[in-house]
Amino acid sequence: MTKKILIVGGVAGGASAAARLRRLDETAEIILFEKGPHISYSSCALPYSLSDTVPDLPSLILMTPERFRAQHRIEVRTGSEVTAIDRAAKTVRVAGPDGRAYDESYDFLVLSPGAEPILPPIPGRDRPHVFTLKDTEDAEAIRQYIAGHHARTAAVIGGGFIGVETAANLAASLDVTLAETADQILTPFDHDMAQILQKELLDHGVHLALHDGAAAIEDGAVRLASGRTVPADLVVMAIGVRPRTALARDAGLAIGASGAIAVDADGRTSDPAIFAVGDAAEVALPLRRMKGRLSLAFPAQKEARRAADAICGRTSPNRGYLGSFGIEVFDLRAAATGLNERDIEALRIPHDFAYVIPFARVSLMPGASPLHLKVHFEVPTGRLLGAQAVGRGTPDRRIDVIAAVIAKGGTLEDLADIDLCYAPPFATAKDAVHLAGLVGLNLLHGEFRQVPVSAVRGLVEAGAAILDVREPGEYAAGHIRGAVNVPLSALRDRLAGLPKDRPLYVHCRSGQRSYYACRILAARGFRDVYNIAGSYLALSLYEYAEDRLTGREPIVTAYNFR
Ligand code: FAD
Repeated sequence: MTKKILIVGGVAGGASAAARLRRLDETAEIILFEKGPHISYSSCALPYSLSDTVPDLPSLILMTPERFRAQHRIEVRTGSEVTAIDRAAKTVRVAGPDGRAYDESYDFLVLSPGAEPILPPIPGRDRPHVFTLKDTEDAEAIRQYIAGHHARTAAVIGGGFIGVETAANLAASLDVTLAETADQILTPFDHDMAQILQKELLDHGVHLALHDGAAAIEDGAVRLASGRTVPADLVVMAIGVRPRTALARDAGLAIGASGAIAVDADGRTSDPAIFAVGDAAEVALPLRRMKGRLSLAFPAQKEARRAADAICGRTSPNRGYLGSFGIEVFDLRAAATGLNERDIEALRIPHDFAYVIPFARVSLMPGASPLHLKVHFEVPTGRLLGAQAVGRGTPDRRIDVIAAVIAKGGTLEDLADIDLCYAPPFATAKDAVHLAGLVGLNLLHGEFRQVPVSAVRGLVEAGAAILDVREPGEYAAGHIRGAVNVPLSALRDRLAGLPKDRPLYVHCRSGQRSYYACRILAARGFRDVYNIAGSYLALSLYEYAEDRLTGREPIVTAYNFR
């Protein structure tokens, strides 16, 4: 019997479900409803349409309703909002483009209505110069406003992915302030990794207001919670999204604890004839051992395919998602997978981390630059929990590799052993991934101990013994206040001058030479020795943005970012 399948939402999840359904069932009647004017556009590229990276909005549209119809024989109804579901009658109510409402019946219904921007009730949020960035109409409105009002300044409220990408792209033509209530941008990243990206924004002229949210939007300015006022001919609100669940709620479908639509492993809601996918639906998060929300494009497309499969009688194991993601901030790329430090602590998993900063390619190759890679693992099993990388080049490649290993339940040993491709222009023979595995194993086996760079300010203020094992020239170019310089090459001859009765904190440029020093010191009877993870390079980056934003006294005489 011919199935009749209705789909609500025509972008990532909806269009994917429709196309897969057609591939599996040539005879089904498939109707896709989209309330906006376009289907199948790249929402992820929307921020890039605010700079010249994406020259115009038509470039964002990957598929027109006409082509979709012709290729897939799928009836696409744009400008058509599904406003209600009658589960008993198996019909939906549609508000058509001409304003007239009608009912459409279904055998199966797939909901992929996405998420909507959260707009806090702050005074002035309805002013004409306040925008969100969710769809092509939003992007068009922002572009027209900038051009039509000769805007020169902008404030972006919210330092999540959309906020940061929006700020970075607007900064191509406007003087931009990015305000964030947390103490860092991009909270899915650890605090130390986010500092690297904050520096990149500052270096490119974006003003940062951290620990600060919008209190009121005025003409040409935003008043922040701190009382500070920042200029803003244009304001983009990017404080987060919430799943669009009104249709599902009103129809009595179960909503999960996360606030998104509850679904089983096949994407089926509490009504067996209705499926939900994408930002509106929950997904399995195996590292957290729970279901939750994940507003990312790949899970939307993958779950859409799964729902289509289930409607056509096919099922496959649902392994859930690690939540891998990436972002480009000016000349840097950052990527992460799995759990971050805050998640791991909230889950009370005993853990440690490996932080390595090798060159992203062989150092003599043009464009070689440091790659910051941090890998979290469980203690004492060495099971991988998450990883984050920031740098020029391809940090995302390292995270993709680690994501694959985590997905298979892998350990530090797996990272250390994995056989990766190598040539000088794109990696080192022992890649960052291997180094992170090896450093983690050394930590796990007690071959050295470490402290994070976040502890160093406290150590300096407490007058702790800090040993800098770089060469004298490196020390002279910038060092931690109060640190003693004994180069690694001279260390064995100058042990007598070092204290054995209190902890010794050792660092070099990136943590590698100081690891060697820790081994020498341990072999020579120094019991309380700690490597400063990431060493001077990570410390400089960790301290820089906060020093600059707060005007506090630096703990280093000069920063070193190379
Ligand atoms: P959407 O793709 O948002 O589609 C939902 C559609 O449903 C919308 O077009 C909406 O108009 C329509 N709709 C809603 N209600 C109804 C109704 N009642 N009737 C008819 N139509 C309806 N993810 C990444 O992984 N990487 C990125 O770099 C990234 N960048 C992003 C940048 C921006 C600016 C945005 C907004 C999102 C970004 N995302 C990114 C997230 C990603 O786009 C979403 O996770 C994905 O699009 C979700 O797919 P979806 O089908 O659930 O929702």
